[in-house]
Amino acid sequence: MPHALPIELLHSLQRIKGFDEAAFMAAHVQGNQITSIRLNPAKPSDSVISTLLLAEKIPWCTNGYYLQERPSFTLDPHFHAGAYYVQEASSMFLETVMKQTIDLNTSLKVLDLCAAPGGKSTLIQSLISNDSFLVSNEVIKTRVNILAENITKWGASNVVVTNNDPKDFQRLSNYFDVIVVDAPCSGSGLFRKDNDAISEWSMDNVALCSQRQQRILADVVPSLKSGGVLIYSTCSYSEVENEDIATWLTKENTFESCRIDFQQNWGIVETDKNDIFGYRFYPDKIKGEGFFIAAFRKNEDGIAQKLKQKPINQKSIVSKSQFEYVSKWINPNVDIDFFNWKNEVIALPNILLQEMANLQSALYIKKIGVNIGSAIRNELIPSHELAVCTILSPDVESIHLNLEDALQFLRHQNFELKDTSPGWKLVMYNELPLGFIKSMSNRFNNYYPREWRILNK
Ligand code: SAM
Repeated sequence: MPHALPIELLHSLQRIKGFDEAAFMAAHVQGNQITSIRLNPAKPSDSVISTLLLAEKIPWCTNGYYLQERPSFTLDPHFHAGAYYVQEASSMFLETVMKQTIDLNTSLKVLDLCAAPGGKSTLIQSLISNDSFLVSNEVIKTRVNILAENITKWGASNVVVTNNDPKDFQRLSNYFDVIVVDAPCSGSGLFRKDNDAISEWSMDNVALCSQRQQRILADVVPSLKSGGVLIYSTCSYSEVENEDIATWLTKENTFESCRIDFQQNWGIVETDKNDIFGYRFYPDKIKGEGFFIAAFRKNEDGIAQKLKQKPINQKSIVSKSQFEYVSKWINPNVDIDFFNWKNEVIALPNILLQEMANLQSALYIKKIGVNIGSAIRNELIPSHELAVCTILSPDVESIHLNLEDALQFLRHQNFELKDTSPGWKLVMYNELPLGFIKSMSNRFNNYYPREWRILNK
């Protein structure tokens, strides 16, 4: 028996702009399940497009598409290769907000504070320039692994995954150009997708979430530069988690609200409580789930000091001889730096190398750039991250698997290898790398991370 929508929630939404109780309830009763994905522009693939049944484009996101039906993503090797991310459509509106409030062609330092499992982070990464970087942070330790996995599959070298409490970012005062806070919330926006979540909802929890949202924002705001942009979002319908937080922000922290243009036929509702703009997504008006987003520009405060640049540890820079055998694995057309970290070689763009020491001294870094492998006796033992990153050399020897064998590879189970010449081989499915194997005379080792392997048959 499905749970009915909480009466207290419906009451609390009565006077909010755009709320139409009958239509809202009907959308929940009908329970349409909408599936949407966002293609990875750094891993273009015709075969993804022919495999997934793409329906229409999501109007507010360049690479976002609705699907005609929900496939088994687990059994699609393109999914494991990072060719797309399965993401709720409303939340992709972040792209429109970023494009209208930020000059994305400049070099930016961006923080995604509440990042796991990585939906917003992978979108942000696709939007920023190559000489920008993203710090993708998750405070809850058990959720950092899935975040790091999704970032790895996305294949970019300009992302740092951290595991810090919001208040730790005060060590990076006046540092970021953009901060995205996709806050933990009471989750009412997902009730249509997840009916069981209704039983956990209460007004008390909404109030607790609102207090926590304020605390998170108060903690992180000092690390935003004057003139920088803060983007706040939730998947709740409650005003105290949305417009009221926005009002509090503009009062307490000298922010100005940013107005976003969009086409009226998209069905998004603009709220302007206390002259602060917020954007609401109701499932009876748009093809997607409940969502709220608002953007703010931090006023110049005149007293902000720039963080003093900490120098790079020169000892960690790779030596000339190391560079020779390491760079063979890297696409010569990409501009990338290398350094040694805990016996591993990391590839990352220069802007991140320059900021490395600042980030290391302030944050707990789970992953930075691309860990391309370990350097042992003048040889690079390549890592899985290298296989799926976009800086890999196109000259690495590869083998191409059909669907059945690709799934066996991803399950860590046996399949027949036709090419038996010894050495490292990049395993490809259609035009996308899945991982490495090392072939010996009569067998091979599978280097796909065991903890990521497909468990079902
Ligand atoms: N941005 C993510 C995405 O698009 O995939 C979803 C983020 S989810 C709405 C909110 C995240 O905030 C969760 O990963 C949760 O673990 C994290 N979180 C929970 N409590 C937090 C706190 N006190 N401070 C910061 N983040 C918190």
